[in-house]
Amino acid sequence: MRARDHFDAASQLAGPRGRHAVVVGGSLAGMLAARVLSDHFDDVTLLERDRFPEAPVARQGLPQGRHVHVLLERGRGVLERFLPGLTGELVRAGADPLDATRDAAWMSPYGWYVRFPGDLRMLASSRDLIDRVVRGRVAALPNVRIQQGADVAGLIRGPGDGAHVVAGVRLRSRAAGAEADRGGSDLAADLVVADGRNSRLPEWLTALGYESPAETVVNSFQGYASRLYRPPAGFEPDWKQLYIQQAPPGDPRGGVISPVEGRRWLVSLVGGDGDYPPTDDAGFLAFARSLCNPALYEAIAVAEPLGSIAGQRATENRLRHYDRLRLFPDGVVAVGDAVCAFNPVYGQGMTAAALGAEVLDRWLRQKSSHGGPGRGRVFQRRLARATSAAWQLSAGADSRFRTTRGPPQGRVARLTGGYIDAVMRAATRRPWVRRRLMEVLHMLRPPSALFGPGVLARLAWDRLVAGADAGPRGGTSLREGTDGGSRSPGRTAPDLDVKTATGRGG
Ligand SMILES: Cc1cc2nc3c(=O)[nH]c(=O)nc-3n(C[C@H](O)[C@H](O)[C@H](O)COP(=O)(O)OP(=O)(O)OC[C@H]3O[C@@H](n4cnc5c(N)ncnc54)[C@H](O)[C@@H]3O)c2cc1C
Repeated sequence: MRARDHFDAASQLAGPRGRHAVVVGGSLAGMLAARVLSDHFDDVTLLERDRFPEAPVARQGLPQGRHVHVLLERGRGVLERFLPGLTGELVRAGADPLDATRDAAWMSPYGWYVRFPGDLRMLASSRDLIDRVVRGRVAALPNVRIQQGADVAGLIRGPGDGAHVVAGVRLRSRAAGAEADRGGSDLAADLVVADGRNSRLPEWLTALGYESPAETVVNSFQGYASRLYRPPAGFEPDWKQLYIQQAPPGDPRGGVISPVEGRRWLVSLVGGDGDYPPTDDAGFLAFARSLCNPALYEAIAVAEPLGSIAGQRATENRLRHYDRLRLFPDGVVAVGDAVCAFNPVYGQGMTAAALGAEVLDRWLRQKSSHGGPGRGRVFQRRLARATSAAWQLSAGADSRFRTTRGPPQGRVARLTGGYIDAVMRAATRRPWVRRRLMEVLHMLRPPSALFGPGVLARLAWDRLVAGADAGPRGGTSLREGTDGGSRSPGRTAPDLDVKTATGRGG
């Protein structure tokens, strides 16, 4: 089929006016949006520039798929709600349902978090597997049509002067290599949903004469380098996932080994403050060796590398304030990374996309979302509220790096930073505190849960009994002395603590 025919065919998918929604981008936020829209529109068309691979492998539009992706429990729960049975399907396809407090050995800035069997799960798999399974489910919906190789070039304006309405999208004809207004075609829609960290929605709005949204950017200059490995035969560590957390400002380096389908490890090294991990063999290993604890290096040094090393540096926290636009046309909304993209080391992006899908669903259930001025802005305000805790966490934690650029942190944020340090320190000893911290990090509880009486009482008791505690593992740079040896009491080999999460003693 020629490109022109292809887009003409796409145009005919449009349902009667008032009945058709278009999603731009087929990553996780786009797929979830399509799933939600399928309940509210007769027809949904998802337009993706790429061609999707059959197997769970990387594709051009999803370069981050080559790096470790942690699906937080809150996000998994929302995915399961919209796509019942998804968790089981992922597990059957090779995802590993880890016991988050037992199977993950996590080196915090204050030493290893205490480990114990619990009931908090964490699904470990490649990002590409999650996308493939979610895509399969969404593609099976009878009123959703996924159009691949469809490159959106802009928005089309609704009829009538002064009507602030978007009436669809303009598709670029790729075969012709032409600009949007030469050789493309239009696809009418009552609602256009845009996603993606590199979303062009701001430019598309400007092209229609609207303002583009103001942005808040907090950049701690993080870089990733990742590679797949085959674990060595007979190598049986007492962890399934190993995480060496960065400890800014002293130690901007970290890394993670996470199991992925096919009995492989996906290893991501991360460096902040522009201390980017190299993507050549020797540099990658040297960076791993320089981490504050030797466990990660020792594991990969004896493992078989599979394929090349992928690097990524577009990791800044970026908040686009669509909710503050004075004039935002009806008929278009932004979701996922298009609105709120995070430094990925905190693992929040997919879960924030899922929260956005919930907001979209609730908004569409309300009559007001189907008419009246400013309805899109109402959606964007609700979305901003739903993701604000995740933003505070990510932007707040990033402010600890030496070279972070962004608005200064307020006094409250600075004070709470010290308190969070005390919580992290307590979580190296107390199962109850680690469990509560994990619940907050997995977005199952709000950050305020760390300030509840249960945590406060335990911290106060520790202070009373134990007095001052060990400081962070790196008040200064930990780069010197890369002999892989332990440099503080906290950085010994991970032990399996057999207390239970629900035990009263924590
Ligand atoms: C290195 C890295 C690691 C990460 N780790 C985690 C993690 O551990 N946990 C987590 O939850 N999140 C993580 N994230 C974030 C996560 O990848 C995103 O939050 C998630 O993909 C949701 O983003 P999105 O769907 O809005 O957009 P994106 O994933 O950016 O996808 C946008 C899609 O739109 C398509 N597209 C773009 N332009 C057009 C166009 N003009 N026309 C048609 N299609 C178009 C692209 O091809 C792509 O498929 C990580 C991100 C990075 C960069």
